[in-house]
Amino acid sequence: MASTTHTPGSGEDSEPAAQDGAPKSSISTANGSVAGSRQTTQVADRFSSFGQTIFTEISALAAQHKAVNLGQGFPDFDGADFVKEAAIQAIRDGKSQYALMTGVPDLATEIADVFERDTGIEVDAKKEVTVTAGCTEAIASAFLGLCNPGDEVVVFEPAYDSYKAAMAMAGAMVKPVVLRPPDFSFSRDELSAAFSSKTRVILINTPHNPTGRVFTESELQFIADLAARHDALVFSDEVYHRLLYNGACHVSIAQLPGMYDRTVTLNSLGKTFSLTGWKVGWAIAPPPLSHAIRMAHQFVTFSVATPLQHGAAAALRAPPQFYEQVRADYTRRRDILLEGLRDVGFNVFEPQGSFFVMADFTPFGFDDDVAFSKHLIEKVGVAAIPPSGFYSNPAEGKHLIRFAFCKTDAVLLEAVRRLKQHLKLQEPCDRKAVS
Ligand code: GLN
Repeated sequence: MASTTHTPGSGEDSEPAAQDGAPKSSISTANGSVAGSRQTTQVADRFSSFGQTIFTEISALAAQHKAVNLGQGFPDFDGADFVKEAAIQAIRDGKSQYALMTGVPDLATEIADVFERDTGIEVDAKKEVTVTAGCTEAIASAFLGLCNPGDEVVVFEPAYDSYKAAMAMAGAMVKPVVLRPPDFSFSRDELSAAFSSKTRVILINTPHNPTGRVFTESELQFIADLAARHDALVFSDEVYHRLLYNGACHVSIAQLPGMYDRTVTLNSLGKTFSLTGWKVGWAIAPPPLSHAIRMAHQFVTFSVATPLQHGAAAALRAPPQFYEQVRADYTRRRDILLEGLRDVGFNVFEPQGSFFVMADFTPFGFDDDVAFSKHLIEKVGVAAIPPSGFYSNPAEGKHLIRFAFCKTDAVLLEAVRRLKQHLKLQEPCDRKAVS
């Protein structure tokens, strides 16, 4: 289950090697060596340390073992009809040719209006909003458009996997700072030490995937001060900003004094509106930064599915009660899972935001997240994400497992039932034996 690099032809479909041992084909690999057989990886150097994403891997295993999938973070319920109808209407109305590279004007205007309502910052939809293929593309285009090879990027770990892949594509260097349990806040000394004269960007994600941490205003101010002192940019991934619990309050770092000019605020439709497959996201940034992001975006995707942008515009016109309902529904789902995991015996770290919860599974006698997630899928019938791959030092995440609760109540209850039935707490002496 460790990351598996795709090796073309390594499965049943592989063709036999030529009898004289000579290469069947001589394809020059990206790293300059010659592919002597189809077993040789064709992956370019920039991706040599990456495998298939853990989300794809776990979802495939979950399907194979018919496990309840609390792994990959996608809702198992549908988005709202008024949003879907708007997209369908756009198709009926013939809105099916390329959208403007920067986004359908109606959507860009809605994004600017929502941002102003949330943050008090007035932005020019034409110059400061760029619609992208999900937040993942916004992140990639931000790195590609704004970073040079060798630039350093400070990133909190555990880090969502696409961040480092986007940095690798841009040739940027990762400077990790670990968020540690129980509250997943950061050491201010470690963060200060991660900055240098080469720091180009600090990437933050609040509410944070996978820990559920919501950065406080004081933490954000500390980050802002460091960014200003080092003249660094801030990329702020805020895709879970509507999913907040127990009075947690989301602050966009762009709101802090002087910060808008050095910040790229990234968001999307998928999480809030349960439309992850639509892949509609956006980047909001002052004109010089937006211009750089657009340089990349125009050659990566150029533009985003036109009818879905019309649907997204309708979504963003949702009244405040819509967001209140989303929050109430997620609070209920979160409570079902938290209570269940605690009953089973996990040491649970309560999330303040997002739709994920991290838990320590060592009470069950395991001490490796990959082995534990395999056990969960195969023997318990529940899939969850082993997070050690989200750290530069995997040992930091080795005792943790991430569950997603963007699932119907019935699915969450079934997962809890299976966990209760099949997971057994270890006696203290047994635990000692495995540690
Ligand atoms: N954002 C989702 C998660 O964290 C995964 C999306 C994906 O599969 N790339 O689970």
